[in-house]
Amino acid sequence: MVIPVNSIESIGSKGKKLPLCPKCKAQLDDRVPRGFFVKTILFFLPLKRYICYRCQRKTYILQ
Ligand SMILES: [Zn+2]
Repeated sequence: MVIPVNSIESIGSKGKKLPLCPKCKAQLDDRVPRGFFVKTILFFLPLKRYICYRCQRKTYILQ
């Protein structure tokens, strides 16, 4: 029995790992400015905000 171990390496076509939309699993490659709450209260967290053009959702990703 062969265990597929190379599936992780296929993430990202430009050699850069892109986060996935939690809803539709599309690759998020466009960042948007963070909201006021995150900028002032959670400024110490490495949060990045991405927009998904497929389902029009903005998602915070911890990186
Ligand atoms: Zn999406």
